[in-house]
Amino acid sequence: MSGYFDTSIAYLKGVGPQKAELLSKELQIVTFGELLSHFPFRYEDRTTFYKINELNSDLQHVQVLGQLVGIETLGEGRRKRLVAYLKDETGVMELTWFKGIQWATKKLVPGASYVVFGKPNQFGRKFSIAHPEIEPLTQAKEEKRYLQPVYPTTEKLKSRFLDSKGISKIIEVLLGQSLSMLPETLPASLLDSNNLLPKREAIYHIHFPANEQLLQQARFRLKFEEFFFLQLRLLKLKLTRTEKFRGQVLQQTALLTQFYSQHLPFELTDAQKRVIKEVYADLKSGKQMNRLIQGDVGSGKTIVAFICILIAIDSGAQSCLMAPTEILAYQHFEGLKPYAESMGLRIGLLTGSSKKSQREIIHQSLRSGELHILIGTHALLEDVVQFKNLGLAIIDEQHRFGVAQRAKLWGKNLASYPHVLVMTATPIPRTLAMTVYGDLDISIIDELPSGRKAIQTIHRYDKDRLKVFGFLKKEIEKGRQVYMVYPLIEESEKMDLKSLMDGHESICRAFPEYPIGILHGNMKPGDKDFEMARFVKGETKIMVATTVIEVGVNVPNATVMVVENAERFGLSQLHQLRGRVGRGSSQSYCILMTKYELSKDSRIRLETMVRTNNGFEIADVDLRLRGPGDLSGTQQSGIADLKLGDISKDAGILTLARDAARDLLEKDPQLSLPQHAVVLEQIKKQTNQALNWSRIS
Ligand code: ADP
Ligand code: MG
Repeated sequence: MSGYFDTSIAYLKGVGPQKAELLSKELQIVTFGELLSHFPFRYEDRTTFYKINELNSDLQHVQVLGQLVGIETLGEGRRKRLVAYLKDETGVMELTWFKGIQWATKKLVPGASYVVFGKPNQFGRKFSIAHPEIEPLTQAKEEKRYLQPVYPTTEKLKSRFLDSKGISKIIEVLLGQSLSMLPETLPASLLDSNNLLPKREAIYHIHFPANEQLLQQARFRLKFEEFFFLQLRLLKLKLTRTEKFRGQVLQQTALLTQFYSQHLPFELTDAQKRVIKEVYADLKSGKQMNRLIQGDVGSGKTIVAFICILIAIDSGAQSCLMAPTEILAYQHFEGLKPYAESMGLRIGLLTGSSKKSQREIIHQSLRSGELHILIGTHALLEDVVQFKNLGLAIIDEQHRFGVAQRAKLWGKNLASYPHVLVMTATPIPRTLAMTVYGDLDISIIDELPSGRKAIQTIHRYDKDRLKVFGFLKKEIEKGRQVYMVYPLIEESEKMDLKSLMDGHESICRAFPEYPIGILHGNMKPGDKDFEMARFVKGETKIMVATTVIEVGVNVPNATVMVVENAERFGLSQLHQLRGRVGRGSSQSYCILMTKYELSKDSRIRLETMVRTNNGFEIADVDLRLRGPGDLSGTQQSGIADLKLGDISKDAGILTLARDAARDLLEKDPQLSLPQHAVVLEQIKKQTNQALNWSRIS
């Protein structure tokens, strides 16, 4: 379907085929519609005129009105410049041109009045604007006070008269001829209830705002619209899936009760109990569950997973738990085995390094249904791994698993899709989660088990290394263990590996009396396991490692984490690393070592780590520092398509839009009511993007 707004901009007055081609190449603007949504990125204030004695060099841009009282050419050769003197009732200022002198000389009429615009610079007590925008003062000009839009453009476009002003001109032409045809895209009820500007007004005022207030209203309306359709797509996707996919009804609780009364070694936190209830409601609903559990490191997600597994087994289904690394899979297996065995359940471990003979036993007992629980890595996803009746699949630390792999799990039970539970310790702000994981329901464990001592985090410069080593010695003498972490962002970076090896050597020299282990991604799985096992058993006192220890490893006796070159780590990674200590009852420490010279962002990261242990607070800062684009999952989520909305700054609008989308779908899931036709229409238009969506789900 093509309409007026799909017309090529080549047909727009003042554009033509050549400029159209350039606009398409440089800014991906092809149609009328696309040109209308090429929004200004800032506005220059033309609402006020400054008096010359009000100028100061902190001002970015000013508009001054005055009379030209003199013009002269100064300097010779390359230093030649044209200086004009502008006078108002408060003083005189200079306007200078280093280029285009001839042109300016011709244009400027001494004695005439002008409106001048530009960045003021101070020289002594005088002010000057170099290469100002200058226009003769006409009556009209004096009355027309406005915020002038500044558009994104490129050098190539500028050379073809499509600088910000040029773009502004063609948009003005287009608005003139098309605004009255621009369709509304939101239902009237939404405009009313959220106090939104109609589309036409919003589009007009985002380009040519009559005043600051209308500009804000226009931006609000357009951001709302972006978020609304993004959320609507996500919610619709979720709705379709819950309607289409039945889940097994898993509702027995006898095993669970037995576990609670006989084997659970501690009291669950209220947050754990609440999340278990939320999962249970899903499992017995008859609909397929897709739920994300967010819980800070150490919040006790594993036991929650195990309890959910018990519910599934009780109703005759099998469960699997997938972890991102072998170490972690192994640790889950070792941790859960005693629980499983105490309940008379069979549990198996399958990883890339499982022996062939073991594999066959596992495959066989999975198919026969004798094996109740399978723990493993990606190896679980292989086609040969077939269950008799997989009811619940749990994915730990999801940020390492793609959506495609999640889909692969669904294929493991053709009779009814297994329920899927995703667990992550990378807390992301709720607004972002709503979008990145928009098709998942979210549960949050926002409480740590009681009795934990808060980890103390300290920032030290490299020059204090000896003191830090002294501290480590004292802790080790108390019987504790230490992690020393080196940056290894790309596991293949030879440089980083060298720094790890050098670090290991210097630690060995500094602590000759203690056994020291080493762990990095380039080691053979068997060697890694060996090193990890020695540390877990307390045989090694210091573990020199890369971020491979980031995820999940649990050594309660390790109470000190030293991070070398901490300025090179991201915030969420530092937080994740810190979570490796503070797992027992003794006081734990995280020492962040850096060089002395630090960038502003690095300082904010370190200060944040020192200030708080709260993962959500850290995630908020992280989001503000990095923007959402960097976070995993955002690429597929449609966030990249947002032109105005900013997930980190516009949380309020996002929440409003999300609620509006949910209300609408509750009232009219098929969008078949006449008053919702505009919404359906808009969604159809976005089918191109929607195509990507269906592929992901
Ligand atoms: P994470 O959420 O980071 O995966 P774990 O599941 O590894 O955390 O739990 C961390 C530690 O806390 C484990 O040793 C676990 O046994 C313990 N734990 C979990 N829940 C509780 C609780 N309610 N009370 C006391 N200790 C708990
Ligand atoms: Mg965990």
